Amino acid sequence: MRFTVIGGGPAGLGAAISVKRALGPRAEVTVHDRRDPGQDGFGLILSPRTVARYAALGFAWAQEVAGSTASWGGLAVLSAREPVTVAGHPARAVARSLLVGAMRREARSLGCALVDGAEADEADFPDADGVVDARGARHRAFTLAEVEAGTEEVHHVWYATDRRFPCLTFVLVETGAGVLTAHTYPYGPDRSAFIVEGPASAWRAVLGGRRGPDDGARLRAAVRSAFAEVLAGHELLGAATRLRSFRTRTAPRWRTGRRVLIGDAAHSAHFSVGSGTTMALDDALSLAEHLRDAPDVATGMDGYAAVRRPETGRVQALGRRSAAWWASLPARWSELSEAELAWSLVTRTGQGTTSRLRVDNPSLHDELVARARKRPVAGAGGARAVRYPEDPGAAAALAAPGPVEVLVDRLDAATRVGLVDLLERTAEHDVLRGRRSVALRVRPGDRDWAEAQLLAGRVSAVGTGAP
Ligand SMILES: Cc1cc2nc3c(=O)[nH]c(=O)nc-3n(C[C@H](O)[C@H](O)[C@H](O)COP(=O)(O)OP(=O)(O)OC[C@H]3O[C@@H](n4cnc5c(N)ncnc54)[C@H](O)[C@@H]3O)c2cc1C
Repeated sequence: MRFTVIGGGPAGLGAAISVKRALGPRAEVTVHDRRDPGQDGFGLILSPRTVARYAALGFAWAQEVAGSTASWGGLAVLSAREPVTVAGHPARAVARSLLVGAMRREARSLGCALVDGAEADEADFPDADGVVDARGARHRAFTLAEVEAGTEEVHHVWYATDRRFPCLTFVLVETGAGVLTAHTYPYGPDRSAFIVEGPASAWRAVLGGRRGPDDGARLRAAVRSAFAEVLAGHELLGAATRLRSFRTRTAPRWRTGRRVLIGDAAHSAHFSVGSGTTMALDDALSLAEHLRDAPDVATGMDGYAAVRRPETGRVQALGRRSAAWWASLPARWSELSEAELAWSLVTRTGQGTTSRLRVDNPSLHDELVARARKRPVAGAGGARAVRYPEDPGAAAALAAPGPVEVLVDRLDAATRVGLVDLLERTAEHDVLRGRRSVALRVRPGDRDWAEAQLLAGRVSAVGTGAP
């Protein structure tokens, strides 16, 4: 069977390796990559679980990369105000060049052919039995895609720096027209990622004027200047020429004839959840397993899509939530202390409990409790009770003025993400200003989670007992 893979990023190389491992000599695999200049330049967060899982499955690239990742625990939020660190949250990152290099070596050793340097398209390969389209998020496959709720007005640029930050570090700079945030994390002995994101207004404030021919130089100079203190003379590396906007997208059809989409070409999730590479690798593995077990290529491709669409959809929901948190940061920034902001960040996708916080970060826990106690609280008399997620009127009740009690009977992952999103979009602002009472009533076993929302400033009170 002849397979052509278009795109030699993690998804395409993952597909080539996994298909060869699954089908052996029955499969002839060629990977075509145009090798965009500078595309391998930066570091990617890869969860320790992903690397360990692939290493345990015998993937040579994972065994090679395992020793070259930068690992850390904790996260830090730095600004002109007080710096805050939150312990826990172990993570790893690897230079994309190392990951792609190791994957290319494994693909070659398994007998895949790698063809570099030219654009490729399905029509170029009339003899292929299957075409795996792994051309990434910027490819025009997305002109076919449904475009989901985006963060149109938020822009980012991806650099690296030769300053090594000790852990995942968010550097917040107030521009006078909104906050710019550098998302940084170490991925090598003298390297950190440096992704700067913020609203269009903040970018206008640091860039000034209209766009010109030397946008790349102007952009870099503006970022260097805005983050001069934290860069402390270190270099900003990369060839970015313009700002980009991120959108969460899902291609409506993942298979058309003999062509199947995988990785970012099929779905994208905001970079702040650091999951795009893992999704790409898992797509590739799933596709290969379905191709191995199915009676024909089309059935195998459809089986892969049926399994992976809901799984990647769950990660995209987290990405969308995280992107929304970052997009609404300017509104929250002036109302939360640095400690509250850090906790709001940690809990933005519905994760985090107060008992974990108390164990990992006792002094931060105590500070957050003290701050929550000092917040002004509006009267709760005559509160309207709504059940989440069952009650279709819950969103409208939270969006309207007046006290509300939200009753949560079943707290699963989807409820956590959905409720955090709803509270932030509707009530948070008034709760923080003491203008409104929004109480959360949960089962006793979920109290910890509800208290995490109280400390983050999303609700004004927590109760337990039969909702
Ligand atoms: C700012 C930012 C930060 C991120 N940080 C992380 C992170 O920390 N952790 C994480 O897991 N993910 C992160 N991601 C997401 C991650 O980069 C992607 O999810 C991942 O690279 C997807 O892999 P892919 O192989 O599907 O696509 P890509 O990595 O985009 O690879 C696509 C490949 O296709 C090639 N190609 C495109 N068109 C053609 C063509 N016509 N012919 C031949 N070749 C072609 C390209 O040259 C490229 O090599 C981040 C993304 C952004 C934007």
